[in-house]
Amino acid sequence: MSDPNCIFCKIAARQIPATFVHEDEDVVAFRDISPQAPTHIVIIPRVHLAGLNDVTPELAPVVAKIALVARKLAAEEGRVASGWRLVSNAGPDAGQTVFHLHFHLLGGRPMAGRMV
Ligand code: 5GP
Ligand code: ZN
Repeated sequence: MSDPNCIFCKIAARQIPATFVHEDEDVVAFRDISPQAPTHIVIIPRVHLAGLNDVTPELAPVVAKIALVARKLAAEEGRVASGWRLVSNAGPDAGQTVFHLHFHLLGGRPMAGRMV
């Protein structure tokens, strides 16, 4: 369920400090240590999996819950009207650096250029 060498597992277990903005039995969210936008929140499942490549049907509820947490946090951050982005990097071409599934919630500035 958790990987002792994983930095995000350690954050979820409160073994490493972070600025938490949401916590429940399945999902944890905290501010990114190197924010790329005025709102930059990392949303993770408590369960350890490396990334979207490892999502299974059994994990669908927690992935859906992350979307609901993102919507709630975007509202709390005041980003609903201006817009926000939820993105997950999977693998080397996407630039994934932490191998515990996570979604970046970004908002508070125009996202320069279209990614898709
Ligand atoms: P990735 O590059 O894998 O998509 O995203 C990893 C993110 O985790 C990066 O935006 C990075 O700044 C953030 N990050 C890495 N280590 C820590 C940490 O110890 N604390 C927090 N709050 N964020 C971290
Ligand atoms: Zn982990």
